[in-house]
Amino acid sequence: MAFTNITCPKCNTVGQMSLLDPNFKGMYRCWKCREFCNIVLENNQVKSCVALTAEEVEKQVQLKNLQDKFKKGYK
Ligand SMILES: [Zn+2]
Repeated sequence: MAFTNITCPKCNTVGQMSLLDPNFKGMYRCWKCREFCNIVLENNQVKSCVALTAEEVEKQVQLKNLQDKFKKGYK
């Protein structure tokens, strides 16, 4: 399994993610300052790492909850 180093754009702390898929797009949370970032990985290389605002985090969480609900078959 490959570990990818991700540098937090806010506090510059390096965190690690272990991914089965070398191409990943999604949220990453800094273990130190707890900032959420949107990251894009290609072949285990960080192509993009952008800090998310609280509003954007909220939106993503709500979207995910909504998708989970649909999967479970709730109205
Ligand atoms: Zn951080």
